[in-house]
Amino acid sequence: MGWRESLDTLGFPDGWWFGRQPDYSDKHPNSGHHPYARPLHMGWSKDARGHWVSSSEDANTWEVICEECGDRDGPVETQSDKVKARRGPYSSKELAEDAATRDFNGGL
Ligand SMILES: [Zn+2]
Repeated sequence: MGWRESLDTLGFPDGWWFGRQPDYSDKHPNSGHHPYARPLHMGWSKDARGHWVSSSEDANTWEVICEECGDRDGPVETQSDKVKARRGPYSSKELAEDAATRDFNGGL
């Protein structure tokens, strides 16, 4: 369970962590990026507060999310070219995790 999920469980309001100093103490010292692979999210819409939410996932297709690359979540069409290139989609979790590792180690 990641720290953000843990916080969700505790009921912290969305957005409270913005402006918080990141803690990279357990991360690669040369990378401030925290990319991760996940099943491709689909069916995007915005909730009442303007946050992207997806209604479905494709269990056979993977994407890589990295907020430090400027990925603000939401459909890939709304992302920068750099984010699009990293997002994928990838045909397997292994390929997606390879791409995430490359980003973590210094980017594309
Ligand atoms: Zn990144």
